[in-house]
Amino acid sequence: MKSTTQPVKNISFLTGFFILLLSLLLIGCDSSPKGLVSYSGQTMGTTYHVTIVADQKVSIAQGDIDELLAGVNQTFSTYIDNSEVWLLNENKSDEWQKSSPALISLVAASQYISEASLGAYDITVAPLVDLWGFGPSFKPDDLPSQNDIDKVMQDIGYHKIIVNTEEGTLKKLSPNVHLDFSSIAKGYGVDEVANYIESRGFFNYMVEVGGEMRLRGHNPDGKKWRIAVEKPDSSKRSIQRVIKLSDIAVATSGGYRNFFIKDAVEYSHTIDPKTGNPVQHHLASVTVLSGECMTADAWATAFMVLGDKKGYDLAIEQKMAVLFIVKNGPEYHEVMTPEFKRLTQELVI
Ligand code: ADP
Ligand code: MG
Repeated sequence: MKSTTQPVKNISFLTGFFILLLSLLLIGCDSSPKGLVSYSGQTMGTTYHVTIVADQKVSIAQGDIDELLAGVNQTFSTYIDNSEVWLLNENKSDEWQKSSPALISLVAASQYISEASLGAYDITVAPLVDLWGFGPSFKPDDLPSQNDIDKVMQDIGYHKIIVNTEEGTLKKLSPNVHLDFSSIAKGYGVDEVANYIESRGFFNYMVEVGGEMRLRGHNPDGKKWRIAVEKPDSSKRSIQRVIKLSDIAVATSGGYRNFFIKDAVEYSHTIDPKTGNPVQHHLASVTVLSGECMTADAWATAFMVLGDKKGYDLAIEQKMAVLFIVKNGPEYHEVMTPEFKRLTQELVI
């Protein structure tokens, strides 16, 4: 299998960096007003950026944020070979096992979204993600055979793990179930940092991890935050549109930064759990707005699996704020749900 793109880590870094750059340009902070503090660093194979606007001195240290995100990574990363998820994936026991509150709550949240998305979203896709060369293990040279796919499909299915939120325990119904939190952990990390900032008494901020964001209050100009939605074009970076938002989380999903081409066919890192194959459709990206970033993050992946038609119908049914960007030849066509239009009334461009 030949990858025509950079490894995931670099791509996410550039995407996050791109968004930061745009955000800084858009908030127009040539001079730092009193009480404007920015932090940035690396986490989860990507970058993070935090901006807090306050009248008083901001007493949050960079180390506090780094530590929080390192904790999230130590729970959910499949790239750290003693993370909680890595250990759970290695553990073939089908007995009830105690897990951390964070892991239990994300498994429960993921299963809720799996149900609601009719199985499009499914964190048990981990073996398929690996098979198609998008996981932490080695990258195969050839496409997987149908036989390879059929074999791992036996261990795919969000019903194959059950969780007892009261006891804080979970149980695999099939010993080879492997979990992949890549589509929700960045959003969860954003929520953790945002909640921490609020617990310290600050309510005007932007938190971003790998392009997923949560915004509250106002920017340094005392206005809503301006967020650039990237044009889902793998050949260059440009802005599709800029939206003004506050008191909400925003996440974008798309195959345009992480894919490979083989025999003129594009293979995306979003996998349809029903077929075991990367999704093949003309939906180029999905942007979801939601109160919590982890929800926005996971739903963005769910809609990428569903495609623009089924996805739009479900978004309407769920009253969700979603922007679908569909590629029609060289053109990018936008489809917005009424809720997305309502929350982003003041479109900048
Ligand atoms: P994007 O920004 O495109 O959403 P993410 O890294 O947030 O990228 O999520 C994509 C990752 O989610 C994939 O690389 C894979 O690890 C995992 N994934 C792929 N398909 C699914 C799916 N159907 N349900 C849940 N997770 C998935
Ligand atoms: Mg995502």
